[in-house]
Amino acid sequence: MISEKMTAMVKNSSAIRAMFEEGKIMAAKYGAENVYDFSLGNPNVPAPKEVKRAVEEILQEEDPLMVHGYMSNSGYEDVRAAIADSLNQRFGTSFHLENILMTVGAAGGLNVVMKTLLNPGEEVLTFAPYFGEYRSYVSNYEGILKAVPANTTDFQPNLEKFEEMICEKTKAVIVNSPNNPTGVVYSEETIQKMAEILRKKEAEYGISIYLVSDEPYRELAYDGVEVPYLTRYYHNTIVGYSYSKSLSLPGERIGYLVIPDEADDSETIIGAANVANRILGYVNAPSLFQRVIARCLDAKVDLEYYDRNRKELYEGLTKMGFTCVKPEGAFYLWMKSPVEDDKVFCEAAKKYHLLIVPGSSFAGPGYVRLAYCVSYETICNSLGQFEKLAEEYGL
Ligand code: PLP
Repeated sequence: MISEKMTAMVKNSSAIRAMFEEGKIMAAKYGAENVYDFSLGNPNVPAPKEVKRAVEEILQEEDPLMVHGYMSNSGYEDVRAAIADSLNQRFGTSFHLENILMTVGAAGGLNVVMKTLLNPGEEVLTFAPYFGEYRSYVSNYEGILKAVPANTTDFQPNLEKFEEMICEKTKAVIVNSPNNPTGVVYSEETIQKMAEILRKKEAEYGISIYLVSDEPYRELAYDGVEVPYLTRYYHNTIVGYSYSKSLSLPGERIGYLVIPDEADDSETIIGAANVANRILGYVNAPSLFQRVIARCLDAKVDLEYYDRNRKELYEGLTKMGFTCVKPEGAFYLWMKSPVEDDKVFCEAAKKYHLLIVPGSSFAGPGYVRLAYCVSYETICNSLGQFEKLAEEYGL
């Protein structure tokens, strides 16, 4: 009795989640220490100590009616003002509290943006390979998601194809840097060229095209690599931020949108996004964690932990003969499947208790994704198993 649209969505429901469930069954059968589960991007580094302290202090010090109550659908004003100040200090921007809308994670924020912007049949572009949930976030509002084919040389966006694919129906472009699944950080040069193309196309068609920057991994960048702040490069940028990874709080569902004054129709969009947050049923972002965030704006997770995993895994796998993109950010490693069919390769990996995700789940066939947000011991102990897999494929 479920809707036709939902039937299709259930059918295509995430292969990654299915693998995560399979991992749990394998762990029960073979022992958790003998299963190497690289399937899910669930942070394994705990939230910084400031988070626990903030929760305790808020519950001790702040008025419970305020802490747990309804507020403006955009969130607490003092929290939004604190976030705007912090962004201004870090990126030289000039946001104020009205530019910030607290959301139920990045997923909630992206749904609010799509609800706010899309008319049925309007197109949203993104770059393959991409986070598969974008398909639902766009189709939820009758939009059409189109993926720009990958640039497999370095997995920076393919800007030639991008330019060709923009048309009068293009309403938004979703970018994600540091990227899930490739671990690539889009360079400043990429962003500048992308902004130029967008400005040119806006003028050519007489439309506004919104660049939606999905940034849950912004703080996870290694070797001092800079992650450009996109509102500084393109006027019609909307930022979707989340604390799921940057503070290891995915279950708390907390993030925010930035809708700058420079964006076309900014005031109307801000007002509509506020209403969208309510009518999508979120009403407002979780209240306690809004208050926690305001006290933890400078807190950081232990990036060194992910970095050590990144180096060990990348070096180990490349030495064995696998071809990998060196991750610059996030906690994913993107590896070429030694055979064309990435699903076959992932099935073969299971024989060695290695759970890795086919790139085709991200519109990146021929590759696989390894989420290295696992214990360092898992990385070290898995390498012997990867060695056997490499041997099977004659590497
Ligand atoms: N965007 C990307 C690229 C992600 O990888 C994820 C989660 O893994 C999300 C959005 C959703 O994040 P959140 O948990 O903040 O909703």
